[in-house]
Order: sequence, then structure tokens, then C-alpha cells
Amino acid sequence: MEGVHKIYDLGEIQVHALRGLDVTIYPGEFVAIMGASGGGKSTFMNMVGMLDRPTRGLYQLDGVDVSSLDKVEMAHLRNRKLGFVFQGFNLLSRTTALENVELPALYARLPPEERIERAREALRIVGLADREHHYPSQLSGGQQQRVAIARALMNRPSILLADEPTGNLDSRTSVEIMGIFQRLNKERGITLVLVTHEPDIAQYAQRVITFRDGKIRRDEVVAHPAVAEEVIKNMPVVGADD
Ligand code: ADP
Ligand code: MG
Repeated sequence: MEGVHKIYDLGEIQVHALRGLDVTIYPGEFVAIMGASGGGKSTFMNMVGMLDRPTRGLYQLDGVDVSSLDKVEMAHLRNRKLGFVFQGFNLLSRTTALENVELPALYARLPPEERIERAREALRIVGLADREHHYPSQLSGGQQQRVAIARALMNRPSILLADEPTGNLDSRTSVEIMGIFQRLNKERGITLVLVTHEPDIAQYAQRVITFRDGKIRRDEVVAHPAVAEEVIKNMPVVGADD
């Protein structure tokens, strides 16, 4: 991003949510986004995820100027490259873990056999192979977030975007989720951009960018990222890219 601004026009008033961002995130990085509420973190994530466009400024994703794309092209690129994880899991409640994970492939019109195979693989990666027929209400919060991560992996994204993914979880479970992210980053080379307001959680990333009042106030390398070792040890070994 270069000189990115986002202004929400509410008619009477305008909210200047991003005020000139210059930032580059490199392939394979694990970046935490921090900062007080209202600082522009979610707005930034929406720009990165192409869920919305900058009011002005340049955003390039893998060399593609996003402003040159129409809505359909943007959706295509989004489905091909990006996976999303949210604070509230956003699972369908009357649908099993496996079916929840299959959903993105349904939209991508993948044949059923391949869809199911991929969904099982994704559940295996997050350590939930034995829970595929459970409904969300039969799973703990941490397990539900794992299902959501598996769903985000379905279209084999190169980038995962997570907005406060541990916001609804206790600290132990949060560390487990960070372990999964670390493993996806290390073993599969997936780029991670994750919003958190907890400094302890940010220490699992390699770089911390702090927002305030729509601007980047700090951008620092984490000298020695914390390692969620337990989880990494206990997870099944899965070959890179299957
Ligand atoms: P954070 O995620 O850091 O809490 P946000 O990006 O959600 O911050 O919000 C940044 C600013 O933009 C806030 O002042 C917020 O009220 C405003 N804002 C966010 N989304 C919208 C929207 N859809 N319409 C109008 N204002 C918005
Ligand atoms: Mg937010």
C-alpha cells in the first residue's frame, strides 16, 4: 500500500478511517496488527482482503493494482489468494464441521468428491479429523475456530487474514490457535496478517504493526517470537501442499 486513505462518507459526516498508509507485507511473513479500538485495524484488513477499496492511494496484491479490477475480477482474486478468519467463527449452526469447511469449494464449483477430500484434509491440518460430523454447538470455542481456519484453507490461499481470531477464546485456547497459525506459516509458507489487541498474542508473530488514528505508529520486528510448541508437537504431520 502506498498513500492509502479510507473515508467513510455518512452523508452528514465523513469518517477518515485510514490516513495515508505506506506498508509492504512480504510473502511468507507473519504480521500482527495492534492498536486501540477505532484505530483503523479492521478497515485496513478490509482493504487488504479486497472487501472494500481505498478512497485513494495504491494497493497492489502480488503486483496487481487492485483499483484496476472490477468487482468480479476482485472476487476472483480474493477467492484464489485469500482466506478469512473472524472473531465470531461465523459457522453455520445446522451444518456439520465437514459441511462448513466444504462451503467455499461449493461456491468455487469444485466436484463433490474433490470437495469432500479437500475438506477432510483441511480438518486434518487443524487437528479435527475426528470431529467432522459434529455440529458447531457440539464443539468448544477453540474447536469451532479450528473449523473456521479449515474453511479458510479450502481454496488453498497464499494469505490468511484474521481479525481478532482469539478475541472470544481463553488464553490457553488462544495459544493453540496461534500454534496452528505458526504451523501454517512455517510449513506451508502461508502469509498471515492477524489483528489482536493482546500484546502476548502479538508476540507469536514475526512483526507487529501498531495503528493509531488511522495511521501506522510503529512497525517492529519481533526479535524472538514466542513458539506455541505444545500444539506444534501434537499436531498430525501433513506434507506441504499435500
Ligand atoms: P478498529 O478495527 O481498529 O477498531 P475500525 O477500522 O473498525 O477500527 O474503525 C476505524 C474508524 O472508522 C472508526 O472511527 C470507526 O467508527 C469508523 N468506521 C469503521 N467502519 C465504518 C463504516 N462501515 N462506516 C462508517 N464508519 C466506519
Ligand atoms: Mg476492529
